[in-house]
This record gives sequence, C-alpha cells and structure tokens, in this order.
Amino acid sequence: MNLFEYQGKELLARSGVATPDGRLAATPDEAADIAEELGPKVVVKAQVRTGGRGKAGGIIVAESPRAAREAASSILSLVIGGQPVSKVLVEAAVAIHKEHYASVVLDRSSRSHLFMVSPRGGMDIEAVAGQEPAAVLRLLIDPLVGLNQFQVNRMVKFLGIEGRAGRQAGVLLQRMYRLYVDYDATLVEVNPLVTTPSNEVLALDAKVAVDDSASFRHPEFDLFEEESDDIQAEARRQGLATFVKLDGDVGIIGNGAGLVMATLDLVDQVGGRAANFLDVGGGADSKTLSSALELILSDGRARSVLINIFGGITRCDLVAEGIVDALSRMKVNVPVVVRLAGTNVEEGRRILIETNDPRVVASKTMLEAAQEAVEAAR
Ligand code: GDP
Ligand code: MN
Repeated sequence: MNLFEYQGKELLARSGVATPDGRLAATPDEAADIAEELGPKVVVKAQVRTGGRGKAGGIIVAESPRAAREAASSILSLVIGGQPVSKVLVEAAVAIHKEHYASVVLDRSSRSHLFMVSPRGGMDIEAVAGQEPAAVLRLLIDPLVGLNQFQVNRMVKFLGIEGRAGRQAGVLLQRMYRLYVDYDATLVEVNPLVTTPSNEVLALDAKVAVDDSASFRHPEFDLFEEESDDIQAEARRQGLATFVKLDGDVGIIGNGAGLVMATLDLVDQVGGRAANFLDVGGGADSKTLSSALELILSDGRARSVLINIFGGITRCDLVAEGIVDALSRMKVNVPVVVRLAGTNVEEGRRILIETNDPRVVASKTMLEAAQEAVEAAR
C-alpha cells in the first residue's frame, strides 16, 4: 500500500525526522485558516498517491492566507494521474539551501535493502541515474546486520553535507532506516531532503509504501487505508478480495483466485490484454456483482468486461440478477460478456438472455467468452 505524503510524514515525524509544520485541508477556507496559523508563506500540496504532482500544478507556494485559499481551490479541482484531489497539505514554507535525495527500498533480487542517496535532489531519481549515474550512491544493506555507522558516514560525505548539518543528516538517514524496518515498509523516499540557510536538515517530501502482508501487526495500516480513496482500498472496504490494475482493455471479474488467473491466461491466449481484474470471492450475490462492475469500470480502462463465474455455493441465478440489476442502474456503455457454470446455471442464463440488453453477451464456454470479450474491446 502506498501512503499519502502526509501519512508518510506522520511516520517520519514519529521516528524523529524533522518535517515542516503542516496540516490537512479539504476546502479552500480550511487551507486559508491553516496559512493564517502557520504562514504567512505556505506551500499547498495535492495529496495523491502518484508522482508528477509538481508538473500537474499540484504544488503551489502561497505568500498569504488569501493566496493559499486560491491555491487550494485550484489544486482541489485537479485530477492527477487519474486521481481526483480531495485533500491538500498546507505547510509552512521552508527556506532551502540545497536539495538532496535519499531512499531505502526493498531490493528483492539482492535479498537486501538498498539505500540510495544523491546530491541532485528535487528531481526524478530515475532521470538523475540515467543522465549522471555517478551522482547516485547505492549501498546494499544486509537486513541481518542493519545499517552501519560507516555506511551512514559515507552517504553523508557523498551528499556533501558538513559539520553540524552533516551530523543531523546522518541521524536522519538512520531514522529513515529505522522507520523502514519498524513499519515493514518496502519504500521510504525523501525527495527533497533539504538543508536550510540556518543549517537545519528536513524532509520536505515523503513517499512511503508499506507491505500489506504485515498489516496484522500494524493496526495503523487500517487507519491509513480508511483515509485512502483509491479503487484498491474501496474494493477491500466492500469485502471484495482483490482488485489489480493492469494496462490492457478487458476488465475481468471472477470468483476465486484460481479461476481469475485462468481467465487472465485465456484472455492472453486469445490475443487480448486485461485492463484490471477483480476477485469477488465466494458467495457472490447481486450486491457484490454490482459493486464489482462499478469498481472494474471506474478506472476507465476497460472497453469490455468479462465475467466468469463458477457457481458452487454461489448461485448463477443470483449472479445473473446482480448483473442485470447493476446494468439497469449504471451508465455502462461497454459490452459485458458473461460465462456462468455450475449451480442454477440454466436459470442464470435465462435471466441474462431475457433481459434483452444489447450490452449483455451470454457465452456458453470460457474460451468463447474470452474471444468475445477480446473482440468486443477492439
Ligand atoms: P513532488 O514534485 O511531488 O515530488 O513534490 P515535492 O514535495 O518534492 O516538492 C517539489 C518541489 O517543490 C521541491 O523539490 C522544492 O523545490 C519545492 N518545495 C516544496 N516545498 C517547499 C518549501 O517549503 N519551500 C520551498 N522553497 N520550496 C518547496
Ligand atoms: Mn518530491
């Protein structure tokens, strides 16, 4: 799970890393109130879990509470990387001496943690690594040994931060690593990590991803999830097992991980590509199906939907009713290809055929359904 910047900063602050004073606002007036308290000069920042905020107009420096209100109003109307902005972080502006880059990330191929630092901060690190590989220091951290002081010293030296600020930077890097380990993170990125004219060291931005498999030992992960508004979190809230986004054009709904995987495989075999897939789990009924359809269509990629349900406990007639019901309420304008098998399949197929909805295609076999869905997406 990727966290919002403000959530990442909360974890950083809890770990003892200095961040600018700031608070969340959901309306322009709230933003103005916060600026009144922390300003006059503030930075208003879109809270979305995707990069490229700056380029999209999602970060504005405001010189007064009035300017902060205007900035928030403009940012709250943006959609960045497909995500509508519903919250902004309003922070006291920081005077910057120099911007640096620092991150810890899980490096599966070396079975280690990877620390990366660069004195070229504020920019996209992939771009820096591409243009000037020598400007990025990469250190593998043995998870059993942990981060050594000599590694910290080497990074601080590489960043070129000296004296008191250098010592602060070293402590900051150690705390980043501590956060990464303590919260079962897979990424902690601070870009920019800044030094100020008065020699303070602060994390101005935070990108943190935590490992969902560790949520059982981190009650705070549930909180992070409640505050999130993406499709994946919405799926989990509705009790739908898994939603995964891909980059093709066929939306896939199935019940049970195995069947969903087999359906993905089949779509690939007949020359198609999945836009996303959703596992509705066992006992899918009318309500589950309509939320599933809504979620699958809400990210706007799918140009056809393939629903593949094997009825065991799940009754095909209820699934069919769910599909018909969902389509009657939704403005779906893509073909929905349905393959049903198992309990009450005849009844289910009858319901689908009798709706006489031109968007619904009832297929007899999985292969036929996959071919029809792929064809329809073209
Ligand atoms: P990102 O573009 O989504 O990574 O957003 P960042 O939080 O990293 O901000 C982008 C850039 O805005 C930074 O690299 C800084 O140059 C600038 N910036 C952000 N906050 C402040 C601030 O408090 N003061 C100043 N002067 N610049 C800031
Ligand atoms: Mn940044």
